[in-house]
Amino acid sequence: MKIIRSVRGKLTVYFVIILGLILSVFSIVMYNIFAGESRDEIDSAMLILASTVRSEIILEGVQEGIFDEAGESYIPFSKPKMQTIEILNDSGKVILKSQTGPNIISVADRKLIGESLNGNHLFVDMNLIQDDGNPSGILYRTLIYPINDHPEKLLIVIGVPLEELENKLSAFRLSLYISIPVFMLLSSVFGWFLTKRAYAPVNEMIRNAGLITSGNPGKRLPVNDSGDEISELAKTLNGMIERLQISFQTLKQFTSDASHELRTPLTILKGEIEVTLGRQRSSEEYEKALRNNLVETERLQKIVDGLLTLSQVESGKVLVTKEEIDINDLLTEAVSKIKILASEKKIKIILNLDDSGISRDRISFSGDRNLLLNVFINLLDNSVKYSGPESTITCTQKTDPAGKFFSVTITDTGIGISPEDLETVFDRFTRADLSRSSTYNTGAGLGLAIARAVIESHNGSISATSIRDAGSSFTVKLPFTVK
Ligand code: ADP
Repeated sequence: MKIIRSVRGKLTVYFVIILGLILSVFSIVMYNIFAGESRDEIDSAMLILASTVRSEIILEGVQEGIFDEAGESYIPFSKPKMQTIEILNDSGKVILKSQTGPNIISVADRKLIGESLNGNHLFVDMNLIQDDGNPSGILYRTLIYPINDHPEKLLIVIGVPLEELENKLSAFRLSLYISIPVFMLLSSVFGWFLTKRAYAPVNEMIRNAGLITSGNPGKRLPVNDSGDEISELAKTLNGMIERLQISFQTLKQFTSDASHELRTPLTILKGEIEVTLGRQRSSEEYEKALRNNLVETERLQKIVDGLLTLSQVESGKVLVTKEEIDINDLLTEAVSKIKILASEKKIKIILNLDDSGISRDRISFSGDRNLLLNVFINLLDNSVKYSGPESTITCTQKTDPAGKFFSVTITDTGIGISPEDLETVFDRFTRADLSRSSTYNTGAGLGLAIARAVIESHNGSISATSIRDAGSSFTVKLPFTVK
């Protein structure tokens, strides 16, 4: 039962059933053609014999010996000894009969004789009657052939037994009854082994798939270079396993990064609480300790909020709220929000908005306004954070004249980022050159990771260039459509 349920078993069964049907139909057609052709051959040979006898009668009249030549005529599937030739007069009386073969016409229907005398020759299959009046069981093919161009109206009757043909046909049928099941049996055996060969790569895939575990993630399914569907399937599955492996690794990394980042403020918090509770304290001391706790708690909250935003953006959950956005309004709002912070360090922010090229009401740009606003606030905030006092930050929006994307560049003249840090600056929990940037009150290192996730979820891109101690430049490209 298990074998039949397997794909291999099913394929073999379908294959054998279809082969059996094709062989049966083919055999029936072949058998009918053979039977029909054989009868036609007998009939035409009988007609030739009748016409030979007719010529003899017209030349020599009805007399003994006219069948001599006829006796040599060949009629397929019958022995001359079994053939009968009779000459009948118009009243149906046999006036001459060959020495071979049984009497035929004595049992023939008188009606047939009448019919033939008035028209053309005719063929009938007759069951010979024995002397005792019972049917002999031997079927005779009988030709009743009129001679109309003789002074007397005569009939030639030729009888040929069909026994030989019947024997041949039943032997043919028997060979078909035996050979079709034998062919089906052989083909099921061949089919079973052929499918075994064809399915060998699938079995190999099943075996190897079982070996891919979390402890052995680098293992892949074997791919042969045949280019068939199975090798394509193996390639596709390998691609899927690769992507899953990357997702698992990212998730693992995310969990370990997150727990590491959360552990530090939690340890500080726990330590401070333990020290405070170590002995009786004055109310001022308690207030100071609580204030410190609040700072750590706020840091923790920021990390948790950032992680939540990141995971939501990465899983595409936040982008359900899509609205039409005017990029220049968005940047104006971001700059105005950061200006208070910048003014504390006497930093000047210059906003250059490109209004040329495509008119603004023809541009269609939609997305999550809050998320995008936070991205630009965060980029400006970083520029302010990592720049010295009284410096200048520029925020420039350029609209691609070909009508494809906005490009927003935020440039500062701050501490810059080293080339090696620049490569990972968009990864989560990255803080470049901690020794230098820590003096600038670095955050959790999630801002740029969130920015990249948000921009990519809007089908855009974000990149950075920087020169150490000279400044950094962050460029965001966001695609829009022209109405
Ligand atoms: P953070 O909250 O620490 O600023 P971000 O993801 O926003 O986290 O930035 C990651 C790191 O990239 C920062 O810690 C800082 O070292 C570096 N960085 C980001 N923006 C700038 C900038 N404009 N100038 C110099 N360094 C920057």
